[in-house]
Amino acid sequence: MGKKKAADFRYSTGETKVPWAAVGESVNKEDIMEVIKFLIPEGDKEKESYEKQLKGVEEEIKKLIEKGKLQTKLTLGPNVAAVEEKAKKFLRSKYACFLPCATHGFELAYKFAGLKPGDEVIVPAITFLSTVNYPLSIGAKVVLADVDPGTINIDPKDIERKITKKTKMIVPVHIGGYPCDMEPIMKLAKKHNLVVLEDAAHAFGASYKGKMIGTIGDFGAYSFHEVKNINSAGEGGILTTNHSCGKDFQIARFGGFDLSNPIKLWLYDVVALKWKGDYFIPGNYSVTEIQAVVFLSQLTRIKKIIERRRKAAEYLDSRFKGIPGIIPQVLDTKDIKSTYHLYLFQIDPSVLKGDIQLFKEKITAKGVTQIFHFAPLYKFIRMKQMGYDVKKIEKSCPNAEEAFRHRATHLPLYPLTDEQLKYMADAIIETIKEMRK
Ligand SMILES: *Cc1c(COP(=O)(O)O)cnc(C)c1O
Repeated sequence: MGKKKAADFRYSTGETKVPWAAVGESVNKEDIMEVIKFLIPEGDKEKESYEKQLKGVEEEIKKLIEKGKLQTKLTLGPNVAAVEEKAKKFLRSKYACFLPCATHGFELAYKFAGLKPGDEVIVPAITFLSTVNYPLSIGAKVVLADVDPGTINIDPKDIERKITKKTKMIVPVHIGGYPCDMEPIMKLAKKHNLVVLEDAAHAFGASYKGKMIGTIGDFGAYSFHEVKNINSAGEGGILTTNHSCGKDFQIARFGGFDLSNPIKLWLYDVVALKWKGDYFIPGNYSVTEIQAVVFLSQLTRIKKIIERRRKAAEYLDSRFKGIPGIIPQVLDTKDIKSTYHLYLFQIDPSVLKGDIQLFKEKITAKGVTQIFHFAPLYKFIRMKQMGYDVKKIEKSCPNAEEAFRHRATHLPLYPLTDEQLKYMADAIIETIKEMRK
């Protein structure tokens, strides 16, 4: 049994005159041209020569198709499998599953962990909304832990304070790609028998004490959304684990479809899955071969990408060092290697007139816009709608509140040019001078 891999079921029918399984419409020459036009749209200049060039490409593609053949395998094929093999090597993880996004990875991890209504999950007050979507959706209780004021990552000491008999999971988030302090978190998890899911959405390629971020907890999920440090054509993610449940990831990705054990008169069986807790029914989280091809290409340059980001962060640090009112980003140490997804920029309001809100206004007026910053989750109306006492939560997270209101924001690092980086640094230094008491 299991002679055919799940990945090649739908199209590969081997040597045959009538490939009965290949019944879908293929991507043809016109579709390919539309993709090329989408990926390389007309610029502002040289409209005529763009059209001419495009005609030439169309001719060449027609010729290329005559020499080669059109791809028919578009989803869950050999490239998806290659992503998983390469990711496992890169991350030194036993299992990896390529998914449409990190959020689906979280969902599968929560399901394998057996999270139930009424269970408690401890997450940092400052993260992206999707970290807690699944727990909120099933009526599990989201407990927000305060952050470390230096890194804005979850504070292990506050996790400890917030553990109760109902706590089932801890979800550290490596904000901006800067690794959380995993050692005390794993110690707490061990002591209280908790499952750790790492939100490594910003941290593909980061490491902590020699281990890759996302492989230290029980589960790790990375995001390849277009704003992250590596992307798979706009959307994507990977879920990893070293636990045995990882062998079921690929089955979980496609609805519980199990080719290894066909039922009588049929090709496959459909299974429910479990690891800790009860059986669950997974959804369909399949990914396309095109996503995989783009990811594999970017994976070959991930080290260079991180290196360039690190250099940009070091440059900003060198510009900001010693300037009263600016607290530069913490850089790598022997034990901690960030992906530098974002640059954590903090100010010291005690020596300035005004705080980060005023800073953001001023810096925007100087043309440095699009500074993203994660708001504490208790600021969003949905927490209140779900019945949470947000005032009480806010009080229990003073560092998150202080960082959000007064001290911290994130700066972009990449793909800024040296010129843009310098402009941003100059504008920031000037702004801070204007704000000095
Ligand atoms: C982007 C992001 C996610 C979600 O990733 P998707 O791949 O879009 O699901 C989760 N957590 C954090 C901290 C993020 O920034």
